[in-house]
Amino acid sequence: MAKVKNWQIDREMEYPYAENRPKKQWAIVFDLNKCIACQTCTLACKTTWTSGKGQEYMLWNNVETKPYGSYPLAWDVRVLERLGHQAWEAKKPYYGKTIYEAAEAHEKAAHFSPEDQDWMYPNHGEDDCANQVNGGDYLSLKHDKWFFYLPRTCAHCTYPACLAACPRKAIYKRQEDGVVLIDQSRCRGYGECVKACPYKKSMYNPHTRVSEKCIGCYPAVEQGLQPQCVVNCIGKIRIMGFINPPWNAKADNPVDYLVHKAGLALPYYPQLGLEPNIYYIPPVHANQEYLQQMFGPNVNQAIDAYRILKDDKVAQGLLMLMGSTDRIIRRFEVKDDFAFGYDESGDELVSVPLVEKMITRTAFDEKFGAVRNNTP
Ligand code: SF4
Ligand code: SF4
Ligand code: SF4
Repeated sequence: MAKVKNWQIDREMEYPYAENRPKKQWAIVFDLNKCIACQTCTLACKTTWTSGKGQEYMLWNNVETKPYGSYPLAWDVRVLERLGHQAWEAKKPYYGKTIYEAAEAHEKAAHFSPEDQDWMYPNHGEDDCANQVNGGDYLSLKHDKWFFYLPRTCAHCTYPACLAACPRKAIYKRQEDGVVLIDQSRCRGYGECVKACPYKKSMYNPHTRVSEKCIGCYPAVEQGLQPQCVVNCIGKIRIMGFINPPWNAKADNPVDYLVHKAGLALPYYPQLGLEPNIYYIPPVHANQEYLQQMFGPNVNQAIDAYRILKDDKVAQGLLMLMGSTDRIIRRFEVKDDFAFGYDESGDELVSVPLVEKMITRTAFDEKFGAVRNNTP
């Protein structure tokens, strides 16, 4: 195996291929404090890309209720069990094993294989915080009554396990945007990617007999547009852009700011070692031990930063830009109580006020003879 640098665990690690970072890296940031599990994102993806036969269970985007929900069944619990107990101290590199380092001789990555039945219940555990699924008896660790929604796409990982495991070399990572794709004409449906991806975001389609996955909406991204699951998000919880590694981070790049500068957004299960490129602003109300397991030991700092957003106009403005335009915002700035988003050439795409103006009207409009309600 080659030695590659993984900034999310702050050390070198083993990976089957040499480091080959793309020129740009596709990324999405999700604010989990705002997701309402409406599944509009799921439907936006399905109606755009996966409407043919055999697509019923091809949920490239899904939204699960944590801690009880999961698709496929218990994917997170099972991969963590496979990894075994590992420790990680705050502000230090992760010295535990990644799935590549924990692999046995016959594996590219430590993995588990979901059964057909595990893929059959995409809404399993939805909205469950009150013992509806046997109090979470299938989990060894019981939880207090709290939950949050976790929307998930493929993470277009810097070190993808799907790509590492494919015996046909049918999976590749694009240099121009870091999107990870499966060449459907090379794939023979062996399902090695499905087994190896710890996030279970590569899916075997029994009708076409090949594997498929989120394509990052690359035809839109090539035109400077954000993906379908992002622009259709009802809660405006998402922003798509390009992330730089921390040594090249730019303070006016929206994703760099949220991840590297403000420390508000974190990758999920970074300890697995894939450098996944979907990032989450963690929910402030959920169990912190659970959040540490999911987002790493620096999650408390991210929550503290979120709690004092009222003192950080730049971060406030950036969060207001989420869902404000269908174009990819390459640069942003906050000035005079407005947040501005710019495209690659520096042209203004959008501006939004940090605080919406409140307009109070008389209850009875004499001109139109109409009675109106004022909704704060
Ligand atoms: S559309 Fe947005 S708010 Fe609705 S479930 Fe998806 S991520 Fe959450
Ligand atoms: S999330 Fe899974 S399917 Fe997507 S790039 Fe990473 S390893 Fe591959
Ligand atoms: S990025 Fe595009 S392909 Fe991927 S989950 Fe979102 S809508 Fe689907």
